[in-house]
Amino acid sequence: MKVLGLETSCDETGLAIYDSELNGGKGGVLAQVLYSQIELHATYGGVVPELASRDHIRKLVPLFDELLDKAGVDKHDIDAVAYTKGPGLIGALMTGALFGRTLAYGLGVPAIGVHHMEGHLLAPLLGADDVAFPFVCLLVSGGHTMLVRADGVGRYEHLGESIDDAAGECFDKTAKMLGLPYPGGPNVAKLAATGDKHAYELPRPMLHKGLDFSFSGMKTAVHNLIKDTPNSDSDPKVRADIAASFQYAVVDTLVKKCVRALKQTGLKRLVIAGGVSANSELRAALESELAKMGAQVHYAPPELCTDNGAMIAYAGFCRLQAGQQDDLSVACVPRWDLTSLNFS
Ligand code: ATP
Ligand code: MG
Ligand code: FE
Repeated sequence: MKVLGLETSCDETGLAIYDSELNGGKGGVLAQVLYSQIELHATYGGVVPELASRDHIRKLVPLFDELLDKAGVDKHDIDAVAYTKGPGLIGALMTGALFGRTLAYGLGVPAIGVHHMEGHLLAPLLGADDVAFPFVCLLVSGGHTMLVRADGVGRYEHLGESIDDAAGECFDKTAKMLGLPYPGGPNVAKLAATGDKHAYELPRPMLHKGLDFSFSGMKTAVHNLIKDTPNSDSDPKVRADIAASFQYAVVDTLVKKCVRALKQTGLKRLVIAGGVSANSELRAALESELAKMGAQVHYAPPELCTDNGAMIAYAGFCRLQAGQQDDLSVACVPRWDLTSLNFS
C-alpha cells in the first residue's frame, strides 16, 4: 500500500510516499522531497504565517510532480493520502489539507488528517521491527517537550511537559545568542562537539521533581554567561565550551526525566522523537543511562526527526490500518492536544 504524506504545518513543505511493501513487508519510504522556507522568513526573525501559506501553495504542485518522478510512480498508484491536520499555523495547515483532500477525492482514495506530533511519535517505528508498544515517548521538537506513555496508535497518556519553552526553541535561542544561523540545534551541536561540557555550570530547573520541564530560565542563564565571559564572541574555545555546557544542561535534564518516566511506568522501552531527538549527545547519553537499567532507546534517522512528509504518510498508514475513515470535510485544528486522540 502506498500512502502519500503531506506536511505543511509551519515553514516546511514535506511530501513523501510510504510504501508498506518495501523491505520485505516491513515498510519504508519510497521517496521524499522537502522544501524549507527558512530563507523566506529569515529577514523577519520568525515565521510570517501569511507568507508561509502562500509559499506552500506555490510549492505543493511542483513538489508533488518531483516526488512522483523520484518515486517512479504514477499518481494513480497512490492508495491513500495523509495530511497534517494540526497543530500548526491555520493557513499553512489549510494548504496541505485542501490539496490532500482534493487530490484524494480526485483519485477516489481515502484521505486521513494526521496530528503532527503523532507523526513525530510514530516516525521511529517506520520500517523498524524492533520497536513495539507500549513505550514511553519523549517528544522534543521546536514547539514541544513532553513525555507520554504510548500504548498503541492514538492511545497516549500524558506524563509530563514543559511548563514554558520547548527544548528545541532553547537550542534555537542559544544559537542566536552565539551568532549561529537558524535552525540552531544542529549548529549548536556542531560547535559543542569541540567544547568542554563541564566548563560552565548552567541551571537544570525542576530536575529532581516530577516529569515536567522548564527551560525558560536557560535563555537568561546563557545570555548572562555570554555577557560575563571574556571573548565569548571571538575565542572559538570559549564559544565551544559555552555551547557544550548548554547542550549538557539540556541533555542531562532530558535524560533524568526519561529515566524517571521509565521507572514510574515500569516500562523498559523509550522512543525519542522530534527535531531534538536528532542530537547525538542526547542519543549517546540515553543509550548509556538506559543500558544501566536494562532499558532501550529507539529513534528515527535524523531526516525523519525534523519535520517531513514521511512521518505524516506513515501515521496516516497506521491510522488507516486501525480503521480510521475521514469524511470529505476539511477541518484543521491549530491547537490540538495529542492525548485527546482516540484509537479510531
Ligand atoms: P513542533 O513539532 O513542536 O511543532 P517543529 O516542527 O518546528 O515544532 P521539529 O521540526 O520537530 O520542530 O524540530 C525542529 C527543532 O529541532 C528546532 O528547534 C531545531 O533547532 C531542533 N534540532 C534539530 N536538529 C537538532 C540537533 N541535532 N540537536 C538539537 N536540536 C536540534
Ligand atoms: Mg520547522
Ligand atoms: Fe515538528
